[in-house]
Amino acid sequence: IEDFFQCFQISCQGATSVTTFVVFLCDKIAPALRRAVYERTAKDVAEGMKGKIPDFQGSRANLDICILKYLAEQENFEHFTQYLHHPEEFFKKYIEKQVQSYCLDEIRRLEKLLDSSLDFLYRNILSAVSLSTQIVNNRKDREDKISLWLDEFCRELTEAMNLPRSDLKGIEHQEVTDIEFLRSAMAEPLAALRDNLRKEFADADMSSFSRQPHTILAEHFSGCWAQCPFCGAVCTNTMRDHEGKHQAVFHRPQALQGFKWYRVFLGFTLYESNHLVIDICSSSVASNVKFKNLGGKLIPGNKYWEAGPPFSEWKIQPDSSMQAYWKWFVCRFRTELEDFYSRKFRGKGKIPVSWQRVTKQQALSELGSR
Ligand SMILES: [Zn+2]
Ligand SMILES: [Zn+2]
Repeated sequence: IEDFFQCFQISCQGATSVTTFVVFLCDKIAPALRRAVYERTAKDVAEGMKGKIPDFQGSRANLDICILKYLAEQENFEHFTQYLHHPEEFFKKYIEKQVQSYCLDEIRRLEKLLDSSLDFLYRNILSAVSLSTQIVNNRKDREDKISLWLDEFCRELTEAMNLPRSDLKGIEHQEVTDIEFLRSAMAEPLAALRDNLRKEFADADMSSFSRQPHTILAEHFSGCWAQCPFCGAVCTNTMRDHEGKHQAVFHRPQALQGFKWYRVFLGFTLYESNHLVIDICSSSVASNVKFKNLGGKLIPGNKYWEAGPPFSEWKIQPDSSMQAYWKWFVCRFRTELEDFYSRKFRGKGKIPVSWQRVTKQQALSELGSR
């Protein structure tokens, strides 16, 4: 009877040990798994959008064209001013909005993507349990079975999720001898963990991400955001802090940044006018029309770099061709622009009749096929 009692005690102790071990381990796995699912899904969303949504299939220049088309469809002056004055912010907001509709549209893509990340990671955990059990079974020589099991388990999962081995020190000396029993004891709590997460995903929204998918996607379209000091066109360099001067392919009429004409009296006295400048800056830099630099000094356009920074930080190629888009925009939002800057399209800033003939359709088709 004594023998029986002893045996019973040991097997009971063994079972408690395994239970303690499994509970502790699953408590550590749960938050790590949850985090890993969201991290993986954020990347999947960004990658999926780059593959499927035309806006994100090319360079930032392509995205810019898509944004210009979107702005023309909306015909909202407020949106235009944000785009013209805070391009980087506008791009980020645009990307965020697109990500949101991609994730939360009627087919609830977010839930599907979270589920598939969960499935992938869950399978990884199950196979890590199997593999580490197998390895421990093959090492009859080792006394510290649990420590070895945990080493292997964490190693197997390194790529899939962040479960530091050091967090599991509390259970590495547990007296678990029956490793096969441990393996089967893991199955149920792990499945419960998966089912709980699945339930949570049914109501998931964008706030559940610690690293937002739109942040990941926006990084892909980063680069230099310097704006031309004349017209506000954004530098097209793909490096944020690049060497050399800023450059843009297309410049714009300077009225978009509120540039106005001055009248010069007797060669030096300046009289402000409230007439906007409709000239494109890349044609102004080929002329000797003067402009005022930040210090109030008059500099001829064809020596614009002598105006110092930020003018000298730009390389503006002389080019008189203006995108039809901006001709359409200036005519469409003429009153809004005049009100916004409290200036007028008059005198030298009179809008040419030819601009008024540009239709939105022409403006858009000139932008490109996307
Ligand atoms: Zn410019
Ligand atoms: Zn630049």
